[in-house]
Amino acid sequence: MANVRLEEIKRRFNNVTAIEDITFEIPDGEFWVLVGPSGCGKSTILRMIAGLETATSGKLFIGDRLVNNIPARQRDVAMVFQNYALYPHMSVAQNIGFGLQMRKIDRKIIQERVVNVARSLSLDHLLDRKPKQLSGGQQQRVALGRAIARQPQVFLLDEPLSNLDAQLRDETRAELKQLHQTLGITTIYVTHDQVEAMTLADKIVVLNRGRIQQIGDPQTIYASPANQMVASFLGSPPMNILPAIYQNNSFDVSGQLLAIPAVVKEKLQLRQGDSCDLGIRPEHIFINEPPSHQLLETLGESVGVRVSVSEREASEREASEREERQEANESQLIVEVKLVEPLGRETLIRAALPGSAVVLNIQVGGDVRLRPGDRLSLQLDLNQLFVFDPKTGDRIL
Ligand code: ATP
Repeated sequence: MANVRLEEIKRRFNNVTAIEDITFEIPDGEFWVLVGPSGCGKSTILRMIAGLETATSGKLFIGDRLVNNIPARQRDVAMVFQNYALYPHMSVAQNIGFGLQMRKIDRKIIQERVVNVARSLSLDHLLDRKPKQLSGGQQQRVALGRAIARQPQVFLLDEPLSNLDAQLRDETRAELKQLHQTLGITTIYVTHDQVEAMTLADKIVVLNRGRIQQIGDPQTIYASPANQMVASFLGSPPMNILPAIYQNNSFDVSGQLLAIPAVVKEKLQLRQGDSCDLGIRPEHIFINEPPSHQLLETLGESVGVRVSVSEREASEREASEREERQEANESQLIVEVKLVEPLGRETLIRAALPGSAVVLNIQVGGDVRLRPGDRLSLQLDLNQLFVFDPKTGDRIL
């Protein structure tokens, strides 16, 4: 086992800069996930660590060893790709033990390790089969087994689950995590799937266009994204981004006004007419049922009837109710339902702001019955609001 350190690594392909100055250190035994959209450079980083690609500049260490000029086979790393290449004429046992055989390890030790690895991956009853007699998930587990049997210092996994169907992917993902907990081998895992990143990682490195956007544990990255790219990339459904204009202590979102909470106002240095992008996660939006202004009016009336108090008290109450009503209304948006996706335990709703192209994702309970065309009043939890600079994407709140 070893730590892995990248210092100011760059990679250019002719005129294309795939990797721009990447620096990070993965402590021994941790599971790190490199995540980002297609072309962000994650596979290139992994291939450089594996020794299948050379860095244009910068230093790469595995343990204390500078490995820039060390060939792949001497780096003591094992890599598993999306397209696991198993030897079709060999049995599962022979495939798993192949790397050890090449290293001329004692036959007895190979046998022992193959049996142990197969057991840990639930492949022990399949050792005599050939790859074509296995399901896709089993084949992928054999590829993982071959890497594990070598007991390398570092595991490098490049989208190893993306060929599996959804259920198998979930199962194999959980097995991988369990395996890492047992073996404790430093692991670097590349994926564009944010669920894999969130569920597997000790630390996530979010990449975009060859640059690091943020490094952190999954919870921190989710709760405190550094910029709009990170905010939109992690989370499913993704964070809603609402273009807005600051005006008279409110955010104007396509003609609807959202009051700016005091805490936001204190921190933001906005001027009249400034543009910004508001970010709010689907789970921080609630449906008002019935629309909250109606609800409050009914509430106000009944309170007025029920309580007979002095005129002064009544007028005070009225004022405070008015304030409450105003606050509630000013964290509301009226939207039109476009799509309803019932998922059983929850329902995903896509709804558009009238007169605008902005569509919101809303995540509500499973028992909601709505149809496209329905108008909804949404309550936004403005304490959970993010504000981004629309030009740079940087988070300003
Ligand atoms: P994906 O998820 O689609 O595999 P990725 O994040 O792994 O993408 P890389 O494969 O690392 O991205 O590629 C990063 C950038 O480098 C891309 O713009 C890609 O086109 C470019 N690139 C990668 N390999 C080469 C190459 N051999 N020659 C030229 N450009 C390359």
